[in-house]
Amino acid sequence: MLSSDKKTRNKLIKTRLFIDFDGTITDCDVGDGIFTRFMSPEAAESDLHNRLIADWKAGILSSEQCLKQECKGTIVNRAQFDEELERYELTPGFKRLVECCHEKDIPMMILSDGFDYYISYILEKHGAADIPFRSNHMLFNNGSLDVEFPWLEKGCGRCGNCKRWHIETESKTGERIIYAGDGYSDRFAIHDADVVFARRDLAEYCISQGREFIPYEDLHAITDYLETSDESS
Ligand SMILES: [Mg+2]
Repeated sequence: MLSSDKKTRNKLIKTRLFIDFDGTITDCDVGDGIFTRFMSPEAAESDLHNRLIADWKAGILSSEQCLKQECKGTIVNRAQFDEELERYELTPGFKRLVECCHEKDIPMMILSDGFDYYISYILEKHGAADIPFRSNHMLFNNGSLDVEFPWLEKGCGRCGNCKRWHIETESKTGERIIYAGDGYSDRFAIHDADVVFARRDLAEYCISQGREFIPYEDLHAITDYLETSDESS
């Protein structure tokens, strides 16, 4: 009986949404903001953050190498960090998108190459702590940040958290996969997506690759699509 119920339920799931966090669910990139705000004087003096990001985007550094050095260059305690997180706004339309996915029984998962601590904090603040997510693990360590990579071995090592692996693992044959993102680490995630919502760096990448995508300014665009598109397509 259980397997029959499960089979029926799976048959009804025709759409699945995977969505980036930094710069997609939040309007600004939280990771970029915290590393800029909490750089040590030495890191600021050497422009560490911008140099690391440039090397990461150029493929010289992996996410693991970049984020470990970023964390080492910080000075911050938990209270200061939490105070900083209060300033990040959600992209308009997030609540409506969550409600739409709930009503339509569309599974929604957040995939991030950022940190679990701030994702949890911000989701909880907005009453959305039940949305599952996969990310890197952040720690406070002797006055600075530290990071662990629980998903690192699942991918090729360029990203700390392989979004493509999660999509392949979480989705089922025949489902329509929707992906929404804005940045560099989303380039790999869109590989198996049927529909891509892109803005900023991801939109530029899609254009450069001739990859079809739907541009978006806010998350209402995704909800509008879910409410009007044919799920069997
Ligand atoms: Mg992003």
